Amino acid sequence: MAMELNKLSAVQMREGLLSGDFSAVELTKTHLEKIESSSKELNNFITVCSKEATDAANKADSLLKKDKSNCPKLTGIPIAVKDMLLTKGIRTTCSSNMLKDFIPPYSSTAVEKAEANGAILIGKTNHDEFGMGTSNENSYFGPVKNPWNLERVPGGSSGGSAVSIAAGHAAFSLATDTGGSIRQPASYTGVVGIKPTYGRVSRYGVIAFASSLDQVGPHTRTVEDAALILEAISGKDSNDSTSIDLPVPDFLKDLRVAKEQSLAGLKVGLPKEYFIEGLDKEVEESTRRAAKELEKEGAELVEISLPHTSAALPVYYILAPAEASSNLARYDGVRYGHRAAKISNLSELYEKTRSEGFGAEVKRRILIGSYVLSSGSYDAFYHKAQQVRTLIIDDFKSAFQNSCDVILAPVCPSTAFKIGGLVKSPLKMYLQDALTTPASLAGLPGMSVPFSTDSNNLPIGVQLIAPAFKEDILFKTAERLERVATIDTSIHC
Ligand code: GLN
Repeated sequence: MAMELNKLSAVQMREGLLSGDFSAVELTKTHLEKIESSSKELNNFITVCSKEATDAANKADSLLKKDKSNCPKLTGIPIAVKDMLLTKGIRTTCSSNMLKDFIPPYSSTAVEKAEANGAILIGKTNHDEFGMGTSNENSYFGPVKNPWNLERVPGGSSGGSAVSIAAGHAAFSLATDTGGSIRQPASYTGVVGIKPTYGRVSRYGVIAFASSLDQVGPHTRTVEDAALILEAISGKDSNDSTSIDLPVPDFLKDLRVAKEQSLAGLKVGLPKEYFIEGLDKEVEESTRRAAKELEKEGAELVEISLPHTSAALPVYYILAPAEASSNLARYDGVRYGHRAAKISNLSELYEKTRSEGFGAEVKRRILIGSYVLSSGSYDAFYHKAQQVRTLIIDDFKSAFQNSCDVILAPVCPSTAFKIGGLVKSPLKMYLQDALTTPASLAGLPGMSVPFSTDSNNLPIGVQLIAPAFKEDILFKTAERLERVATIDTSIHC
């Protein structure tokens, strides 16, 4: 029985805890045992918080004993957190040599909210350094492996976070998505991942990569779990002026109502620009089959056009590095993080600290970013990219105003590729982001739902994109796909 507990969804864990079927201590122990048995090989954790988690589980059990009815909604449920989100008193490395010994004095708002709702932090997950990557091969702590096939990447940058769910190491995890880092690993590992609308979740205490794009969201086992957790971490935060002051819906309750209704009246847009040359045949088939399933449920399928889609990738790879080069200027060896030894003057301190502290991909982004922001190229690259970003935003606006309520598309051009397969070709690696960056640039909520597997038995997810702050539409559409999905999402490792 004990080893089965980690196959439950967070919603089922909640029910089991409330009805006394098992305790929070048992639940935590099961997850810690699973971590012990398989996380070394998968390399998905940087830090495991066994003692802290066990203490918190004991507290959760006392609370459950005392007053079940008033226990917050995530009481006793184990979570993993991407090591880009600060956790007070617990090392937060950003998967970088620069911060490998950094112990934050405060927690990110998203983690604080999850913990205030009773969740138990079980560990910090591996990812591409500073969130820069698509394969989780750019971590100072080494690559993460895909539990479906250990020779394959889990996707990135939040690979460790997605793997923690696929491998049964936590009930859900918190990750970040700047250009696809929640959705792409979700698709590669067969878990649910949602990038909320920009501003839905506070970025306070999230180590900055590209501030106009970064968003926190969960990886979960089910769509219901995603709804439960998103509500718990959302809302206005006075520490983040870009968080939006809008009421947070009870996503789970709304989803349960929507589940009982048909999808009649829902217009699902299939953007022709997402079915690009180079798109894997099996991924395309799976996406089109998902569309047909929604049609059976009463939805209307419409072909739409988002004409500037192909510009999203170049625009992203100008704007994200530009913001990164500015955000990462703070790692100078003076205030915190790594500091080079044996230096004789200040410029040597900066140079040596940054050369030693950052990995190759981070340096590449800093170079690109500094270049596009330099006075000679600002107008040609940065300013132009901002103008094209507006065109991308307008494409989505007009699609949602005139043609559809939700967009259905592939998440990535392919399924999980081989570890080492694209390392030598950064441009090919960047191409993996072609279908996730548009929604990021437009600040729209996007989701990946596990739907099928390919002939190599690797997961294929389907991407849904909704208008800003309409995550409820994502959930109700995703849940229909979840019902008819042909992928076995039970634990893999
Ligand atoms: N793969 C993209 C990049 O490397 C997106 C990463 C992310 O969303 N953090 O920039």
